[in-house]
Amino acid sequence: MDTLPLGFRLKGQPCLVVGGGDIALRKVSLLLRAGGIVTLVAPEVLPALRAQVEAAGGTVHLRPYTSDDIADQTLVISATDDEALNAAVSQACQARRIPVNVVDAPALCTVIFPAIVDRSPLLIGISSNGVSPVLARILRGKIESMIPAAYGRLAQLLGEFRTLAKQTFPDTSSRRAFWEAQLEGPMPDLVFSGRDDEARSHLQQAFAAPQKQQAGEVYLVGAGPGDPDLLTFKALRLMQQADVIVYDRLVSAPILDLCRRDADRIYVGKARAEHAVPQEGINALLVRLAQEGKRVCRLKGGDPFIFGRGGEEIEELAAAGISFQVVPGITAASGCAAYAGIPLTHRNYAQSVRFVTGHLKDGTPDLPWAELVHPNQTLVLYMGLVSLGPIREQLLAHGLTPSTPVAMISKGTTPQQQVITGTLENIVEKLAGQPLPAPTLIIVGEVVQLRDQLNWFSPAPVTHERD
Ligand code: SAH
Repeated sequence: MDTLPLGFRLKGQPCLVVGGGDIALRKVSLLLRAGGIVTLVAPEVLPALRAQVEAAGGTVHLRPYTSDDIADQTLVISATDDEALNAAVSQACQARRIPVNVVDAPALCTVIFPAIVDRSPLLIGISSNGVSPVLARILRGKIESMIPAAYGRLAQLLGEFRTLAKQTFPDTSSRRAFWEAQLEGPMPDLVFSGRDDEARSHLQQAFAAPQKQQAGEVYLVGAGPGDPDLLTFKALRLMQQADVIVYDRLVSAPILDLCRRDADRIYVGKARAEHAVPQEGINALLVRLAQEGKRVCRLKGGDPFIFGRGGEEIEELAAAGISFQVVPGITAASGCAAYAGIPLTHRNYAQSVRFVTGHLKDGTPDLPWAELVHPNQTLVLYMGLVSLGPIREQLLAHGLTPSTPVAMISKGTTPQQQVITGTLENIVEKLAGQPLPAPTLIIVGEVVQLRDQLNWFSPAPVTHERD
């Protein structure tokens, strides 16, 4: 260990910053956040920097540094591009044993700034000891993405109960067990979703009756169209803390791999027309698991509220008094369009977009066709592959021209993505004899032709073309 990470309590302490440019600005912001009283010395100072220091009650001296400036300082930072000056500041501080940091010169520092993940009062510092600040920053990005922004509020809430916890559980091990159970239960998620008051009363109840079994919760999570990189941070977090994962056919294997290893997995199917578990069965299953005290992640392809029957599932949960959260996901239309290089709207070609289900009741088309056939409108048909023939006939009968471009995207955003483009006139023939694997999304509209211009930057990992 080249340095010892310590928390420096700077509140009300005098800190000197030498330098008046961008780098000084960054350091000054940090010092001020920690409550330091900043004195800044530099012949020239950025106006924004000066304003910041003065607004926080600090002092700005527009002149060169002199060795007297470090007297009585708790911490000194040299943030200039003058190497000789930086070295002089460092030496003067070291001679008086004043902690000193010289930006970008680890050899001149007695203290270094870690990259910080700030969830005050919770703080995480990451340091490469000056060897590679970029590496530390990248790692910080990863940690930032793993730790919900509300962790600070959670820590604060726990702080409110410290005294009560000591009174209720005088011995350390039962106190620790209690906190572990609370932190692994549903309480933190109440805070993460902004329900701090509910979290507080949850804790109060837990203190009042520590033995009582906690109720479970259901997370209705949108898993996106297939590429695991399209998951939200929140989805990933809930997938990793759930006790049971209830998933259907649209959830890709790499996404399931990201769920908590020891969670139970229950497949509830839902291929077209062959429902492994009927919807009522799924609703009842979710209720039962939650009543057993489990944290249940109901993982659905795309977005749970777009042709996902998420509404029905939460109605049932609400009726049974079970607490739930809904996490939106990237819906197939957004994911497939982006990965196929088709903008769903465009100033010149489409001012509106409609998401329509092509799953026709009893195979008969009963959509509001006249509304769908609208100039400058993109149509996105979910579940439309099987009914493509009748759908096409209706669109033509209601006035769309046969040359209207159409794209079919199969397994969009996955390495198996395939895109077939054509027109209303020829798309059915183009598909004949080469069935596309499900799921397939259909996009109808002039925007499809932009694909040829835009596809070069499409982020799809591998695209097998069959145009
Ligand atoms: N809730 C989901 C949609 C469920 S309906 C969402 O928001 O995306 C199922 C239909 O979604 C499929 O028939 C298909 O039309 C479409 N779909 C879902 N994922 C897809 C993917 N990766 N590629 C192409 N279409 C997809």
